Amino acid sequence: MAQDKKVLVVGGGGRCHAIVDALSRSPQVAKIYCAPGNAGIAAQAECVPIKDTDVKGLLAFAQEQGIDLTVVGPEAALSVGVVDAFRAAGLAIFGHTKAATRIESSKEFAKVLMDKYGIPTAGYRSFDDFQEALAYVNARPFPAVLKYDGLAAGKGVVIAADAAEAEAALRSMLLDEAFGKGRVVVEDFLTGPEFSFMAFVDGEKVYPMPLSQDHKRAFDGDKGPNTGGMGAYTGLPFVTEEDRAFAQKEILEATAKAMVAEGCPLSGVLYGGLMKTPDGIKVIEFNARFGDPETEVVLPLLDSDIYDIFLAVATGKPATEPVWRKAVTLGVVLASKGYPGSYDKGAEILGADQVDAKVYHMGTKRDGDRLLTAGGRVMMVVAEGKDIRAAYRKVYGEIAKIQCDNLFYRRDIAHWALDGRILDGKALAASIKDGLRDRVAKLEVKYGRKPSLAVIIVGNNPASQVYVRNKVKSAIYVGMNSRLITMAEDATEEALLKMIDDLNRDPEVDGILVQLPLPKQINEERVIDAIAQEKDVDGFHPRNVSDLWLGRPCTIPCTPKGILRLIDESGIDLNGKTAVVVGRSNIVGKPVAKLLLDRNATVVIAHSRTKDLKAMTLQADVLVVAVGRPNMVTGDMVKPGAVVIDVGINRTDDGKLCGDVDFVSARLRASWITPVPGGVGPMTIAMLMENTVEAFLARIGK
Ligand code: NAP
Repeated sequence: MAQDKKVLVVGGGGRCHAIVDALSRSPQVAKIYCAPGNAGIAAQAECVPIKDTDVKGLLAFAQEQGIDLTVVGPEAALSVGVVDAFRAAGLAIFGHTKAATRIESSKEFAKVLMDKYGIPTAGYRSFDDFQEALAYVNARPFPAVLKYDGLAAGKGVVIAADAAEAEAALRSMLLDEAFGKGRVVVEDFLTGPEFSFMAFVDGEKVYPMPLSQDHKRAFDGDKGPNTGGMGAYTGLPFVTEEDRAFAQKEILEATAKAMVAEGCPLSGVLYGGLMKTPDGIKVIEFNARFGDPETEVVLPLLDSDIYDIFLAVATGKPATEPVWRKAVTLGVVLASKGYPGSYDKGAEILGADQVDAKVYHMGTKRDGDRLLTAGGRVMMVVAEGKDIRAAYRKVYGEIAKIQCDNLFYRRDIAHWALDGRILDGKALAASIKDGLRDRVAKLEVKYGRKPSLAVIIVGNNPASQVYVRNKVKSAIYVGMNSRLITMAEDATEEALLKMIDDLNRDPEVDGILVQLPLPKQINEERVIDAIAQEKDVDGFHPRNVSDLWLGRPCTIPCTPKGILRLIDESGIDLNGKTAVVVGRSNIVGKPVAKLLLDRNATVVIAHSRTKDLKAMTLQADVLVVAVGRPNMVTGDMVKPGAVVIDVGINRTDDGKLCGDVDFVSARLRASWITPVPGGVGPMTIAMLMENTVEAFLARIGK
């Protein structure tokens, strides 16, 4: 195959860089021009200073250079009719005619088309009169989706939460004509995850591309203002093959046919902005070109020669079905600080040439040897992996090589696919307690007596009050006898020891629990020592502790026992795995470590003063954190795929409960993680109930 083809790519952003990059892999393409291009594209194409909407300039250039094929990136160039002009001059061009571009440029055209051909989308009506629009919106439930009918560079859509917001938006679009004179489409509000489905379309022929999803909000956790897109990935976890096949047939192929029937066939990329609603897949919007930043993650997966596909679509010849690599990609946009608001330009970017992944430039310029920021979105780094976790690790590892004072980026791209699954302690504890409830009922029938728990609280520590109430409530739920003994804040140690002695002797009491901490005048150790070992359902008695370490049968402390149950829920086989326990208290850290050792894990006990804790936690297949310091362990300290158990119960300055682990960042790396609250806490109580039933059986001789 001769490598002699000359291609002109119209456009200049990250999307065009990805198109140029794909064309540069073609064995047929000898020379790529890009109008106007950018500093990154200049490494793979010759940039020519012609504006993407300068139809005459582009045509003259293509004719002078003998261009074999022109490919149009941006919608602005399509809607001024660059394709029509090239076709009239007999030149091959990939992109839709002005008439076909209406599927993007006129929301009403797209809505009428979908209505007429039964393509699934949200219900709608369109208006050019402000009062009529307002009356219609106010007569329907909120939120209302208001779309300016025309090209508004992605800014013409308002989701109005109430009447005031709707009125302001309608006023701006219809009375103040913020985007020019036009109409407004009012749509039903749909819910569900959105995704992008792009295809090369030539008349009725549709060649689908891999699905992708972008992230529109500026900051982590989908917070902050809307942007042009802060990152994207392929390999969506929430769209089934059935969903995909439905969308291809009922949406993309149906739309391609409809456009042929309407006399304006498609001859470029059809981009379906789709939503997986509870009622099935629906169209949110169509675009008549490659999406940005989706193109940057989709095209790197193309194994076929893109020149063949572009040429076939441009000339109406059948193309061979494109072949896509069975891998996934993840791309992260690096943007100027302040974007999408105002931002500075001209900051130097170092290290971009060291990156071992695709780097697509969006807004950069060169000043001699120096690479500078020159836009809001500056560049996108795209990594490929066998799965999304591999791509995630790779892309953020590579981004770390880029240094620039004025860039920021999201750290949670693909969180939909990456979020660790929740180890739901509340649900597990509830099912354990349900099981115990059945067991207690049977025990009562068999032995004529129920297990019985005595809980002692000394003083009025508010947290302790809550804990004991929950313990007694659970005992009642399980059907045990329970006794709550409250002693005054100034109770003497002697009085407490006497109470414990009485309970030790009481044949009707199976479990004794003294809520810690105790007031200063009472020695906790002496109190714990005083509880009879067989009634020590907390597992804190020194003989229970020594039996645990010596490997003898004993009462296992409630929190460590609950933690092991949660770890088992994840399905991990601990044999040979590395477990790191951060925290070395006698009631949590140390016994958890022993239980993990008993399961043949390699165990490290670390604590808050451990040197280079991160180096250790990064080794942990299982990470248990029990130190009582808010958010001490962050996502970057978690080994990807780890099981993370957060024991800490802390209060933030604004009074919210939080754990020792930063849940948002850690969840991105963990395969399983406990939330706070709702993780270990409920399990501690369930294990207390279990220990009490076991103490009953041991005492009764079974
Ligand atoms: P703790 O007794 O306060 O222990 C935490 C830290 O205190 C240890 O890592 C260590 O600090 C120091 N420490 C305590 N005992 C020590 C000892 N014998 N020798 C040396 N250092 C010792 O806390 P904890 O009871 O383990 O609880 C930790 C967190 O988990 C707290 O937030 C607590 O509220 C929570 N918790 C939750 C549950 C539940 O059911 N969810 C149950 C128990 C505890 P350094 O690392 O600084 O040396």
